Amino acid sequence: MSISENIVRLKTRLPEDVQLVAVSKTKSVDEIMEAYSTGHRIFGENKIQEMADKAEKLPKDIQWHMIGHVQRNKVKYMAPFVRMIHAVDSLRLLAEIEKQAGKHDRVIDCLLQIKIAEEESKFGLNEEDALTILNSEELKNYAHVRIVGLMGMATFTENESILNREFDRLKKFYDLHKDSFNLFHLSMGMSGDYELALAHGSTMVRVGSAIFGERNY
Ligand SMILES: *Cc1c(COP(=O)(O)O)cnc(C)c1O
Repeated sequence: MSISENIVRLKTRLPEDVQLVAVSKTKSVDEIMEAYSTGHRIFGENKIQEMADKAEKLPKDIQWHMIGHVQRNKVKYMAPFVRMIHAVDSLRLLAEIEKQAGKHDRVIDCLLQIKIAEEESKFGLNEEDALTILNSEELKNYAHVRIVGLMGMATFTENESILNREFDRLKKFYDLHKDSFNLFHLSMGMSGDYELALAHGSTMVRVGSAIFGERNY
């Protein structure tokens, strides 16, 4: 199957109100253009420099999502164009996004990354810290950054009971707080687990290898 066939077929399987982020990390601009030619416009990258290089070469109507961990000193390189940042995990990072987005008179949508995997992972907030950020006074004064939802990465496993538990927990947390904080995106699900994530209420899936094939690092 080709990239364009993969993406068209995948989209027929997604409910209409679910957004697909085509994860193009390590893939070439030609490969991205093949996906683009089907009409797809939302692409995800996990490295800021790589995303900025590609954004410069590719059509300007692509909506770029940063799905990887973000270092504060690199926010300035994506502030002019990035549409959404999925893995926000601190107020200090939000402050930097606010500052850099302000320079370009833009509003950048952000998701808070919640730690859901039971396996050891360095990134993501626990629920208490996420609520501290959502309730913070600073956030209320920000005009250039908007928290629009939550993101989670499940344990890398095929064990469905672990995945069910992790997705379920994030969905419950999301449901509990979405109205108070105007959250309308729940980003969860990748190539190996997006069907399960959808069954648990995901509104946004981040799919790479099932579209572009395996990555060679
Ligand atoms: C690479 C990546 C994905 C996509 O992974 P696939 O298994 O190739 O679909 C999704 N989310 C994040 C955060 C990633 O880094």
